[in-house]
Amino acid sequence: MNARMAGMSAQVIDPVASGYLTIDLGAIRRNYLKLAGMLAPARTAAVVKADAYGLGARPVAEAFYQAGCRDFFTAHFSEAATLRPVLADDAILYVLNGLQPGNEAACAAAGIIPVLNSLEQLRRWGETATLMGKPLAAAIQFDTGMSRLGLSPVEQAQLKTELARHPLIDIRFIMSHLASADEADSAQNGEQIAEMERIAAEFPEFPVCFANSGGVFLGKRFHHLMARPGIATYGGNPTPDAVNPMEPTVSLKIAVVQTRTVPAGAKVGYGATFVAPKEMRLATIAAGYADGLPRSLSDRGAAYYGDVRLPIVGRVSMDSMTVDISSLPEGTLMLGSLVEMIGPHQTLDDLAQAAGTISYEVLTSLGQRYQREYLKP
Ligand SMILES: *Cc1c(COP(=O)(O)O)cnc(C)c1O
Repeated sequence: MNARMAGMSAQVIDPVASGYLTIDLGAIRRNYLKLAGMLAPARTAAVVKADAYGLGARPVAEAFYQAGCRDFFTAHFSEAATLRPVLADDAILYVLNGLQPGNEAACAAAGIIPVLNSLEQLRRWGETATLMGKPLAAAIQFDTGMSRLGLSPVEQAQLKTELARHPLIDIRFIMSHLASADEADSAQNGEQIAEMERIAAEFPEFPVCFANSGGVFLGKRFHHLMARPGIATYGGNPTPDAVNPMEPTVSLKIAVVQTRTVPAGAKVGYGATFVAPKEMRLATIAAGYADGLPRSLSDRGAAYYGDVRLPIVGRVSMDSMTVDISSLPEGTLMLGSLVEMIGPHQTLDDLAQAAGTISYEVLTSLGQRYQREYLKP
């Protein structure tokens, strides 16, 4: 029997979360509407794969829907199937990773639209349509130079013949994906759009869906029928060489679990990678790499308290890390104080850069131990 059950609750400090993750659905909505304004009359889809980039597929998809979005991209069928009952019937769900063998009937039954990435997938979808005796919607993806997903040039040459064999496949659009859209002056953007336009000219009956977040900012030529921005809607910078045009959507605060003063020469953390050069005051904060704060932040990242930068000293542990609080007046931080990890003083992109990674990876790694609060749109 714990203290609380023994009726000692008056003496028990309420358990506090180790960290507080605030997800601003209003900011996600405004980011979506900003992109939709840039894209109109082209449509603006939402990309909600990987649990909406770690922010919660259900609340985030609902926010997009309320902002007027009707096209939702997931990576896996299971992600689309989970969202299907959550969203109204006029929401359309697409599966980017394609049609997996054995998944055809479930996909058709759920009314989920596969992005067909090969002729083999197209044939299976066509056979499913024949068996069901009704048209089945699909998108077709082409590889325009990323070598990841989509029909190869060899398959492209055979597509017309295959489509003629499967008249029940209802092609909603053709698509491809940019590999360097976040580098506005990368020659690859020009190469890929030229290839996409060449393919589109061969299939003039099908509209095109091409741009991701970065692509939206490459201009009208990249907009077509519909764009698929992901990271920009979540506040990551889609134009890393310029000021972030998007609004932040996430803030993360971590609780202090212990403070101490250490003498010069004290070793800090696993492997003693940091040795105090002088007497220092340190705070141990309650998040580590298991909470999605990469170990690569060891001895190089920081937390913030107000405007004051609190350098991470020593290695990031699984559940905690240590920050140098010597520049704060003594007694400022105590057990339960919160320091900022993502917020006004350190953006998502700042944190990603300090960790040597990208905003996408930081978001999709955010741990499950934070107390999550959703600010309503
Ligand atoms: C993830 C993904 C997107 C979204 O990309 P962002 O860079 O986050 O805008 C769009 N299209 C495809 C095919 C993707 O895999």
